[in-house]
Amino acid sequence: MNLCNLSTVRELLDRYELAPRKGFGQNFLINPDVPARIAGSSAMGFDCGWGGAETGAPDGVCALEIGPGIGAMTRELSSLFHKVLAVEIDRGLIPLLAETLGDCHNTTVINEDFMSLSLKELLKEHFGESPVRICANLPYYITSPILMSVLEAYKPSETPQVQSITVLIQNEVADRLCAEAGSDEYGSITASVNLCGTARKLFTVPAGCFYPAPKVTSAVVQITLYKNGVRDAFEGLPEDNDELDRLIGLAKRLIAAAFAQRRKTLTNALSSVCEKSKTEEALTAMGLRTDIRGEKLSAADFVTLAKHIRGLA
Ligand code: SAM
Repeated sequence: MNLCNLSTVRELLDRYELAPRKGFGQNFLINPDVPARIAGSSAMGFDCGWGGAETGAPDGVCALEIGPGIGAMTRELSSLFHKVLAVEIDRGLIPLLAETLGDCHNTTVINEDFMSLSLKELLKEHFGESPVRICANLPYYITSPILMSVLEAYKPSETPQVQSITVLIQNEVADRLCAEAGSDEYGSITASVNLCGTARKLFTVPAGCFYPAPKVTSAVVQITLYKNGVRDAFEGLPEDNDELDRLIGLAKRLIAAAFAQRRKTLTNALSSVCEKSKTEEALTAMGLRTDIRGEKLSAADFVTLAKHIRGLA
């Protein structure tokens, strides 16, 4: 059965008395190249040279899919990964998935709202200690909360069980995730993601590849998490894990405050988190102007700023 054939998708949904649900962000992929390419990109792991799309992911690596829909990408993941877990919120799709994934013996589907789950517990329960890659055609209404819930699941000092997140999202959000500091697209989500990993836009997907077609163009982004947590990315961090977690916690609060009022100078925007004179002192020590705006600072700059404020630099 070709799960990306529009007539097949319609026939399946009709047979199970279903229709695409806007409230769950249901836009199903109807171009077979797209789920194959997304799953292949996840298996390949661009920034790490992990495995290859033809041979599948490296031995033992598992995949978590958020929102399998009717199972088109789940089947691709099933052929490339050791084990697959798919979390689907729509109860109506569960019997349909039992049919379309009936021969995928390494794949489990659960009927849950991903946002109500503890990611760490879920992965331990289904995959033990095995490394995991997340792959999804994300519902647009909840893209940022899902991404942030994955990235926030691990303490900055921890080695995350999740190696990478490969997601199909709105093109505009993809550009924000991958933006350079100082650009128009750069925002709090960019800096927050860069505290946990590096984001790379892989390819765009036109609206015509979905049923029903969304109003916007989409794109695939891969976030590769730092293998050993934040210590892999920034220099001069404290050796003590608790101190490190507090430092990165402060960097996150600085990012949130800086972008909540992005038109203000950083010193003014941060006044609820840090005394103005202290921010100015820190910026001067970093060789930056005291009237700089937060949108000019990279994630590394926010970490350095937090170090100065905590007296660690
Ligand atoms: N993976 C399928 C595909 O590519 O054709 C469907 C993608 S569709 C854009 C998003 C899917 O996520 C839908 O199946 C929807 O029901 C599911 N979904 C939406 N919110 C969810 C949530 N909070 N937890 C789990 N699944 C969710």
